[in-house]
Amino acid sequence: MKGRTEAEPVSGADIERWVRPAIRALAAYRVHDASGYVKLDAMENPYSLPEALQDEWLEVLRGVQLNRYPDPEASILKARLREWLVVPDGSELILGNGSDELIQMVALALAEPGRCLLAPEPGFAMYPLIARVAGLEYHGVPLREDDFALDSEAMLAAIAEHRPAVVFLACPNNPTGNLLERKAVLRILDAAPGLVVLDEAYHSFAGETFMGDLPDHPRLLVMRTLSKVGLAGLRIGVLAGAPEWLAELNKLRLPYNINVLSQASAGFILQHAAVLDEQAARIRDDREWLYGQLAALPGVRVWPSRANFLLLRVADAGAVDAALKAERILIKNLHGVHPSLDNCLRVTVSTGEENRLFLNALQRAMV
Ligand code: PMP
Repeated sequence: MKGRTEAEPVSGADIERWVRPAIRALAAYRVHDASGYVKLDAMENPYSLPEALQDEWLEVLRGVQLNRYPDPEASILKARLREWLVVPDGSELILGNGSDELIQMVALALAEPGRCLLAPEPGFAMYPLIARVAGLEYHGVPLREDDFALDSEAMLAAIAEHRPAVVFLACPNNPTGNLLERKAVLRILDAAPGLVVLDEAYHSFAGETFMGDLPDHPRLLVMRTLSKVGLAGLRIGVLAGAPEWLAELNKLRLPYNINVLSQASAGFILQHAAVLDEQAARIRDDREWLYGQLAALPGVRVWPSRANFLLLRVADAGAVDAALKAERILIKNLHGVHPSLDNCLRVTVSTGEENRLFLNALQRAMV
């Protein structure tokens, strides 16, 4: 047998020949290395489980059979989620490996040449990325300039023009933090010819939901995630809606997409969901404290938020971001992401201590 002496380099021509142009044109979703940083960039919950609960959880994990495939339907977890999310009778659930995977399932199910995904902008970065990967066109519709409210007229005009296969509405919106006005969302639900996905990733910090509207709107789907309430590492997203839609999505869900450890862990923790609710309540209080502090700082504009993060504008976001990084504090610099986010930064609301660290470092960064 002839051994290979030298590894052949991958040829650019091969990449060009075989990888779809739509994929080659994309930039991968970048996540900053957070080791050693106070991590305020990704809307994680800073709290872990109380110690007694951690011990019980580890006992549950001891019973998990790693040699077996997971329950493909995740039935126990789904039943507990159903109860926690207060899903109306007649609606079903489908789970994703994070809500990112659910966005992908929706896009893949609907993608055909000439069809599009439409969403307000600035919005969640994965909507355009996943649309393009799936083969859907993407249309962004600007939110109102100053308060980031839905521009109903612009949305309705864009819906009439593009006839989107799906509209994604994040409520509260990322990265702006505001809730979308209920009346404006209902107008979109009436006008949209295709699916409308209400992405309620930040629901625990806002309280308001369209879950109860599912029976009245046959093309509405409501999406939630466990990522923002303390379980980001488990990667569990939930989509609720009419069984007819979910049966179609289920065909392209990869079997066993929710692994045994995630099913067992989330199933257990949801039996103690009050812990998650209390942590969210603490974060809501701390958000109001941090908002007040930031609003009082000269040179900072901060927007009211119904999520677990705050959007702020400073004179030079790049310089502030760099100064914070030098102090090992990681936030998200949004400058350049969208014209209405000039010199904007997004910071996750964390523990009282980490919020103060951020605030002090920000003040130092601005002098
Ligand atoms: N939707 C919105 C609006 C988000 O901000 C995020 C995460 N940043 C997600 C969905 C995805 O969450 P996950 O995949 O962790 O469930």
